[in-house]
Amino acid sequence: MIPITALKDKTIALFGLGGSGLATAKAIVAGGAQIIAWDDNPQSVAKAQAEGIATGDLRLADWGQFSALVLSPGVPLTHPKPHWTVQLAHEAGVEIIGDVELFVRERKLLAPDCPFIAITGTNGKSTTTALIAHILKSSGRDMQLGGNIGTAILTLDAPAANKFYVVECSSYQIDLAPSLNPSAGILLNLTPDHLDRHGAMENYAAIKARLVAQSDVAIVGVDDDYCVKIADSLAAKTDKLIRISKDKPLQNGYFAIKSELFYARSGDVKSLGSLQSIGSLRGSHNAQNALAAIAACMSVGLSFTEIEAGLQSFPGLAHRMEQVARRGKVLFVNDSKATNAEATAPALSSFAKNIYWIVGGVPKAGGIEALREFFPRVAKAYLIGEAAAAFAATLGNDVVYEISDTLEVAVTHAAHDAGADAAHEPVVLLSPACASFDQFQNFEKRGDAFRDFVFALAGTTKIEGAN
Ligand code: ADP
Repeated sequence: MIPITALKDKTIALFGLGGSGLATAKAIVAGGAQIIAWDDNPQSVAKAQAEGIATGDLRLADWGQFSALVLSPGVPLTHPKPHWTVQLAHEAGVEIIGDVELFVRERKLLAPDCPFIAITGTNGKSTTTALIAHILKSSGRDMQLGGNIGTAILTLDAPAANKFYVVECSSYQIDLAPSLNPSAGILLNLTPDHLDRHGAMENYAAIKARLVAQSDVAIVGVDDDYCVKIADSLAAKTDKLIRISKDKPLQNGYFAIKSELFYARSGDVKSLGSLQSIGSLRGSHNAQNALAAIAACMSVGLSFTEIEAGLQSFPGLAHRMEQVARRGKVLFVNDSKATNAEATAPALSSFAKNIYWIVGGVPKAGGIEALREFFPRVAKAYLIGEAAAAFAATLGNDVVYEISDTLEVAVTHAAHDAGADAAHEPVVLLSPACASFDQFQNFEKRGDAFRDFVFALAGTTKIEGAN
């Protein structure tokens, strides 16, 4: 835990006791501050009380006593409308911050120079964060991994000179961290997302841009218009900008052409090897993630040899293009995290053909129409869940399909058909392009079930490092 000594002797209001909120409350108390914590959910309040956190209805509190309102990132700050605690804080002139801001303040007090890599973007945050963490860990560094990826940041070890922090930041967390100043900040990409919470795309982009604007070294993917604009405006202010591109040569920066990686300085290009043989980093979207990881690890002092070893041994993240098993020549890939067509596109684009595609669940608006360009790569589709009939209509005569209904039937039939394919490496791919809750509690349970059904097939070999 990181006791927040930066708030010692202050009185703090905290709202949001689910997720990371309770850990944040404990860290604030451990640092010597008074706290009044609250949540709209009485069960969360009771749980905090049982763990010794002082609670109270913040509607009834005297806001004049508070030095700050510490807010959970899930609580609306601006859109669709400010939460009632936010309104009360504004009226009382109380600053509003989150757990990442508390970490940043504590780092400034205890170890301002300790390496701190922060990662954001619309897609690929968790993969890039996990990859950087893996590279640092396998090179023997004392690595601390947290933030939006699942471990509350204030449950990590307190900042010290020899510790390397790798922190995934959602736009909500950045919004609540005005002094966020990582040693290396990564902005991977920007596409419209979460606009219900940020209003216009411009607001969302401006929040994400703050992470790199205040970084010692700013690493920006320049494969979409918003990020290109952000990189160009940073370039005018700093020489600490590193551009990365997943598919086009750069004069300066890190780029990929297919799975070959390069570094260029004033047009002088050096090869950094290939991702071809790294199954967990297939696809050009993963080239973007890998390049960002390489640039960040270089900037905090790792050698390229150390980085390369980490890339080669990266097992990937569970449920994201996760290679789970082989059965003869057939490869089984779990991409259960792909809950919409946009997320399934990189999965289908990662395999040239001979894809036995398990797809379906609760469909999103637009269904799988946006994936039409990839249909020729699909040998057969296995349709499951509520979406089956609608997706059958979209596939029409363009793709051979069956309505399997359940994941178990889909896995069995796809494994059988792929096994009879003469191709070098047919792939059974679960990339549902749908939410899971018609048949599963969440995408993790759906991916776990896929793995179990695959492992239950005779002659299946688990892939080393699979989760
Ligand atoms: P996030 O944490 O930002 O949600 P993840 O790393 O969990 O991202 O990846 C989620 C999905 O997004 C992956 O299954 C993949 O389909 C897609 N993806 C991963 N990296 C990228 C990227 N750099 N650009 C676009 N899509 C990506």
